[in-house]
Amino acid sequence: MHSIETLLNKLQSPKKIWVTTHYKPDGDAVGSVMALCLYLKKKGHEVYPVFPNEIPYFLDWIPGLEHALNFEAEPKLVEQKLQQCDLICCLDFNDISRVKYLEPLLAAAQQEKLLIDHHMYATPVFEYSLSDEHKSSTCELVYDFINLDKGNALIDTDIAACLYTGAMTDSGSFRFPSTSASLHRMIADLMDKGLKHSPIHEKVYDSWTEQRMRFVGYVLKDKMEIIKDCQAGLICLSQKDLDDYQLNSSDTEGLVNYPLSIEGILFSTLIIERKDGVKLSFRSKGNVDVNFFARQYFNGGGHFNASGGQSSQSFTETILCFKQKLYEFHAPNKQLKK
Ligand code: 5GP
Ligand code: MN
Repeated sequence: MHSIETLLNKLQSPKKIWVTTHYKPDGDAVGSVMALCLYLKKKGHEVYPVFPNEIPYFLDWIPGLEHALNFEAEPKLVEQKLQQCDLICCLDFNDISRVKYLEPLLAAAQQEKLLIDHHMYATPVFEYSLSDEHKSSTCELVYDFINLDKGNALIDTDIAACLYTGAMTDSGSFRFPSTSASLHRMIADLMDKGLKHSPIHEKVYDSWTEQRMRFVGYVLKDKMEIIKDCQAGLICLSQKDLDDYQLNSSDTEGLVNYPLSIEGILFSTLIIERKDGVKLSFRSKGNVDVNFFARQYFNGGGHFNASGGQSSQSFTETILCFKQKLYEFHAPNKQLKK
């Protein structure tokens, strides 16, 4: 591992830089990739923002996306740009398997790699790393990167909008414990630079279809199970549930948070049957380590209070297995400590 300063020195001359993030990119993934790309472009570099698959509709307004590549749509072009580049930047993930179908290309690439990320347990495959699990978001770390590069004055309203989007979405609109005084100072700086925050919140959170809203009603009424013994909430959605409401894959975003709004519920899980396998999302409050749970039982990871994983078993078997593990996990804790 080399120091970030060594990299910043190398970046004094123009480079070709390929930047990517995890599969099914969220607000922090898209915001951090585009903020870094817009900044590096202003510094005179050639940049190739690459997403492993499509971007959710509520993020399609993010500045600079017209120049971004989608690996599923244009695999050859993505590969060609990867071969041409001098540096690879990996944002908002630290385990190469999270880029899914892009993994073989990325793993084989010989160029130096920079990691900018806030997940736990980074794999040691990066030459440079700006990684801090205590930060709210990768966007907060991209802001730190820009400041380390003494580039704060280059932050314009487009870069500010990208950074704000990731910080807002990953911090639950600035309410999760990862929201720090320094994050608020970053937001104040972005507002001083002309950031308009309200339209961003509206574009991300007030752009639902009627179908999506009705689906949430159905889920909360008929699909949410409360397992009082384990202070847990569980929502399981089959492929048929999704098809019946003609949802797209980003319409289930945020569902996992609802059970945590019930007093006494400290552990929430969403299990979804998707065409490419069964996906699990975990959220918790306080001392409940869902990162451990995701890594131990569902080949996953993430953060202490927000993690994800997957299962190669059927949907029904996964639910049974999950419940068994939940009781095992809960037993030594007796009462999950907040
Ligand atoms: P979500 O539940 O929203 O998909 O993900 C919650 C958090 O866990 C995110 O920070 C995400 O990056 C991480 N995460 C989700 N799925 C996986 C996974 O399969 N493996 C790992 N290592 N992290 C995951
Ligand atoms: Mn993130």
